[in-house]
Amino acid sequence: MLTALVGINWGDEGKGRMTDLLSAEYDVICRYQGGNNAGHTVVNDKGKFILNLLPSGVFRDNVVNVMGNGMVIDIEHLCGEIAALKEKGVRITPDTLKISDKAFICMPYHKQQDILEEERLADKKYGSTRRGIAPVYGDKYMKKGIRMGDLLFPDTLENKLADILEWKNITLRGYGQGEVSLEAMTQWLMEFGKPLLGYITDTMGYLLDAVDQNKNILFEAQLGALRDIDYGIYPYTTSSQTLAAYAPIGAGIPGVKLDRVVGVMKAYSSCVGEGPFTAELFGEEAAMLREAGGEYGAATGRPRRVGGFDIPASVYGVRVQGADSLALTKLDVLSYLDRIPVCVAYEIDGVRCEHFPTGDRLARAKPVFEYLEGFKTDISKCRNAEELPEPALRYIRFIEEAVGCPIEYVSVGAGRDDYIKMR
Ligand code: GDP
Ligand code: MG
Repeated sequence: MLTALVGINWGDEGKGRMTDLLSAEYDVICRYQGGNNAGHTVVNDKGKFILNLLPSGVFRDNVVNVMGNGMVIDIEHLCGEIAALKEKGVRITPDTLKISDKAFICMPYHKQQDILEEERLADKKYGSTRRGIAPVYGDKYMKKGIRMGDLLFPDTLENKLADILEWKNITLRGYGQGEVSLEAMTQWLMEFGKPLLGYITDTMGYLLDAVDQNKNILFEAQLGALRDIDYGIYPYTTSSQTLAAYAPIGAGIPGVKLDRVVGVMKAYSSCVGEGPFTAELFGEEAAMLREAGGEYGAATGRPRRVGGFDIPASVYGVRVQGADSLALTKLDVLSYLDRIPVCVAYEIDGVRCEHFPTGDRLARAKPVFEYLEGFKTDISKCRNAEELPEPALRYIRFIEEAVGCPIEYVSVGAGRDDYIKMR
């Protein structure tokens, strides 16, 4: 069984939480895109964790975790993340973690460039996590990247790096910065590359064998459909493909077909950073929802923008993901509301629009809200659908019908077992 677990919205839908839950049924968990701009929160018997780079399968002893070629890896950050988990008793060895030799290394100058550009943009900034993600993907496509596999060949690496720095320093000088030295970068690569050498491997070979052996493989996305570089709210997207269709490519087995796509969708909306966010709520209404949902960035601590559930955006998300079923998360958060706002359509230049628009039309869209009856009870202890109050069930059914995809799981808490299987 090959399953992709992906975000339907803007990210932070609870993918880490769902991956941790579903990983019980899988042998291999792969991250296939993104870098440490991710913040996947997992709460289980081992504690509370925020994963930036490691797949959320790391807590299961019998699961192999793969960091695919589609990822960009800040090796200093990864060393820290592995060390912190090991300290808390999580077992990470070359048998349980495999890093693609084709994944790109996010260098200190990528982070520097990201920050410099956001500061240059000032009011027009993208809302980057400032972790170097856009510059490292940019360099990948400029063919000026360094890959994890290069760490295995230090002699040729230094020459490669020298050529790249000659080019990179032209850019940094343009920002009025001093030059990055070859010596400092080589030293950084050696220092943080060394502890990782044992994990670097041809993940394609490993995954092809796993497929041949009929292993169950889960692909874990970072961010959501609306942040996909091609199909998202460009340029307020991330710099990689977050969609399910890309999962086998970014993980290392481009030739396989997915059996199942599970979309993770939040019971309301949240969005980190800039860009159009039509269903956004403001003032007191937003402050209450943000507090109730603890909507502060897992990777950055930034307060997230929040809004009502957005039907046009979620229909679009379900469609571009090709989702077969959905996990609706954080339903418990809405229990304080007398009535629940749902954005059922957009209004663009005075005309009602049911479909998610792109480009300038999206920037001009205004929300059309409808209100559903609140459930006003704590549902966090409910473990099957019959225990849910009638208005909560109605809310689930309303959303299910609107987005046209079955809701398979409803999550009512952050802990591993805080969920309801709907079918
Ligand atoms: P991800 O990036 O998609 O993995 O999501 P994040 O970890 O950034 O954000 C989800 C947040 O909601 C985390 O703090 C989770 O612990 C929490 N969470 C996940 N599912 C639920 C739920 O059903 N109810 C509540 N109250 N919190 C949840
Ligand atoms: Mg997150």
